Amino acid sequence: MLSMFMFFIGSVIGSFLNVCIYRLPQNESVVTPPSHCLQCNTLLTVRDLIPIMSYLLLGGKCRYCGKPYSPRYAVVELLTGLLFFWCFLCFGAGLELVIALMFTSFLVIIAFIDYDHQLILDKVLVWFAGAGVVAKLYTGYPLIGDMLLAAVTGGGVLLFLALITRGGMGDGDIKLVAALGLWLGLEPTMLTLFLAFVLGGLSSVLLLLFKLKTRKDFIPFAPFIAIAGFISALYGVEIIQWYFQFLP
Ligand SMILES: [Zn+2]
Repeated sequence: MLSMFMFFIGSVIGSFLNVCIYRLPQNESVVTPPSHCLQCNTLLTVRDLIPIMSYLLLGGKCRYCGKPYSPRYAVVELLTGLLFFWCFLCFGAGLELVIALMFTSFLVIIAFIDYDHQLILDKVLVWFAGAGVVAKLYTGYPLIGDMLLAAVTGGGVLLFLALITRGGMGDGDIKLVAALGLWLGLEPTMLTLFLAFVLGGLSSVLLLLFKLKTRKDFIPFAPFIAIAGFISALYGVEIIQWYFQFLP
């Protein structure tokens, strides 16, 4: 029951994340003006804004002007609902869950903006890093040293790659991994980098193989960092323990 409620909360938050994803790159406020149809500018009411359901009930068309709108909004709502549900299954109710949900929400915003614009906004990263520090201080972690080490090492690895590949890695990616380090600590941050490279590499090969992208196309890396960061936040400890049992 509570898990279904988490899904619902996630889809409502996802609706707000849509606004952030759409407006932040345009330097618009995420509060005003209220949600409106991008075609006819009619202000949307509560019944137009029920996550996922409104899109399905309206058949993907604006109630007022009848023009279709992107299914992306419903996709982000559904995705955020599922991720919140997943976090709840993993952490149960409590402070750890709240922190995981905040972390996840930031990752959704960052991943989709990078996917849309090949851009990781500094203002989002500042909030992301700041929230990470506050979250860790609040949980009384004596691990601030570990967090800082994770930020410097994680960012450092990508900076090194950026230097030797000359632009293969954007400075947004470097800053993103540094900020993520503040949330996760050293080992899960290294795991995030490893998983991001595996996922990114595999996806690039598949995209080239099926000719969905060419070698000249830019493939945004933040979505892979986000997926890898999410997995590391939920299962990092287990994965790292599993890995270390193979070492002598
Ligand atoms: Zn309209």
